[in-house]
Amino acid sequence: MTETGKPSTDRFDLDQQIFDAFDRDRTGVVERRDVRARVEASGLKADDPRLASFWDELTSDANALDQDGFTDLCTRREGLLVRLLQDRFIIPRFDRFAADVGALFEDGRAETAGTVASYIPELARVDPENYGLGLCTVDGQRASYGDSDAVFCAQSAAKPITYARALERVGGERVHAHVGREPSGRSFNDIALNRVNKPHNPMINAGAIMCCALTDPEESVDARFDALGALWLDLAAGDLGYGAGKARYNEAVYQSEKATANRNYALAYLMMEKKAFPEGADLHAALDLYFRICALELSVDRMAIVAATLANAGVCPLTNRRVLSVETVKNVLSLMSSCGMYDFSGEFAFTIGLPAKSGVSGVLMAVVPGVLGFAVWSPRLDPLGNSVRGVAFCRRLVERYHFHMYDGLAAPVSKHDPTERRSWARGLEAYQLIQAAGLGDLVEVRRLLAHGSSVNAADYDRRTPLHLAAAEGCGEVVRYLLAHGADAQAVDRWGATAADAAEQSGHSEIAALLRGA
Ligand code: GLN
Repeated sequence: MTETGKPSTDRFDLDQQIFDAFDRDRTGVVERRDVRARVEASGLKADDPRLASFWDELTSDANALDQDGFTDLCTRREGLLVRLLQDRFIIPRFDRFAADVGALFEDGRAETAGTVASYIPELARVDPENYGLGLCTVDGQRASYGDSDAVFCAQSAAKPITYARALERVGGERVHAHVGREPSGRSFNDIALNRVNKPHNPMINAGAIMCCALTDPEESVDARFDALGALWLDLAAGDLGYGAGKARYNEAVYQSEKATANRNYALAYLMMEKKAFPEGADLHAALDLYFRICALELSVDRMAIVAATLANAGVCPLTNRRVLSVETVKNVLSLMSSCGMYDFSGEFAFTIGLPAKSGVSGVLMAVVPGVLGFAVWSPRLDPLGNSVRGVAFCRRLVERYHFHMYDGLAAPVSKHDPTERRSWARGLEAYQLIQAAGLGDLVEVRRLLAHGSSVNAADYDRRTPLHLAAAEGCGEVVRYLLAHGADAQAVDRWGATAADAAEQSGHSEIAALLRGA
C-alpha cells in the first residue's frame, strides 16, 4: 500500500504521474479545461465516439478533478486518455503537424489549371473552386481544411471499397478468376480487356462493374447498394457526412450516369461476349449497382476516416471495430498503389509513393500505411482525370514529410517525420551510435551515421558519441566524429566536454586533439 492507502499498482502510479504533470502547483486538483485543451490539441474531435463517455465531463464547469476523478477518466476506453496524455498517439505533436499541413493545403489554392468533368450536367455544374481536405490518423486524430464537410459523389474513388466487399464476400481466388491485377496503361473507361479477356484490374470501370456482378447477385440492387453502403458507414465510423443512418446516392447523378453510360454498357457487353462474367450474371443489375455506387455521397472529412481504416489494417480508429480483414486491406492497398490513379499510376507510385484512388468528381483518397489516411476534393481535373490540386497536394505533402512508401528505408535526413513510431526507432539508433562510439566500433559508427543518425545525439546524461569515444580513448572514432560534424564544445550533465572526459581517463593525446578542434 502507498501513503494514500491505494494499492500500488503500475496503473495507479502511471495515473499519479500524469496527474502530477497537470497539477504543477500541487493543489491536489487538475482543471478540466487543461485536460480538454490537451485532448483538442491531440486531434480528437468532440464527435469521436470514443469520447462520448467523458467529453461532457471535460466540458462541464463542475469542480476541478481530484485524483480519484482523474483516475476514473483515465481508466475508461482502454486508457485512451492515458495514451493521449503520455503523447503516445502515432503523431504526438498533432497540433503542430495539423498547422503545417494546413499551410501546404493553402498553398494549393492558387492552382487553377484543369477542367471540371462535364460528361453529365450534375458534375459540370459544380463550383470549380471547391477545395477541401480531411485527414485522420490510425489513432483517430483528425484535421479538416476548407470545404471538408461538403458532400460530393465518390465516383471512381468508390472502387477500392467495391473491390474490398467482393473480396470479403466471395474470396480473392474467385474475384481474381474474373478480374486481373495489372495496370491497364489505358484510360479508366477504355474499351479494352487484358490478354485473357478479363478486365485489367478492379480500379477501372470494367473491373469495378465485374466486382459489382460478383457480389450478392441473388439480392436486389437496392439491397446490394445498402450492403455496400453499410460497409462504407462502418469504415467511416457510422457517418458519411449527413448524419447517422443509411448511406445514400445522389439520385440525379445516378440517373444521368445511367442515361449517358454508353461506354459502360459497351464495356459490359464486351465482357459478356468474351464470357468474362460468372455464369448467369445479370449485366444490367451489375451496371445499375455500379452507377449508384459512383453516385454515393460523402464528405472528405468522412472519407479520411475510411482511408484511416485502411491505414490501420481494417480496424476503424474511431470505433476500434474490425471492418475488413488484414488480407483484404493488403490486396486493396496493393492495387491502389499500382492502379489507383488511372494512367498516371506508375508516375504517382514513383514520385509520391502512396496507395491512392481518384474519382472524376475531383476526389483523391490516399493512405500512409500505419500512420494516416486523407482525402482531398477539388473538381478541376487534369487530362488523365485526376484532380489537379489533389495530386499537387500529395506532391507537397510527400516533399515535406517522410511518407513516400520507400522513405522508411532510411532515417529521415531532409524530410520531417511527425510519427512516434519512427522517432522511437531514431531514439534507439542514437543509443546504438553512442554505444558504438564508446566501443571504438568505427564500422558501426559509420553505418549509423550513413543511416541518418545524428552525430550529436545525447544520452540521458547528455553524453554524446564524442564524449564516449574520448573517455574510452578511441582516437580513430574521435577523429571520424569530428570530421563528420561532432560538436567538441558539447557538455554533459556535469558540465564536462569530451576533452574533459578524455583527460579524466588519462587520454591526454585525445584531449589535446579535442581542444584543438
Ligand atoms: N461514373 C464514371 C464512369 O463510370 C466514374 C469514372 C471515374 O470516376 N473515373 O465513367
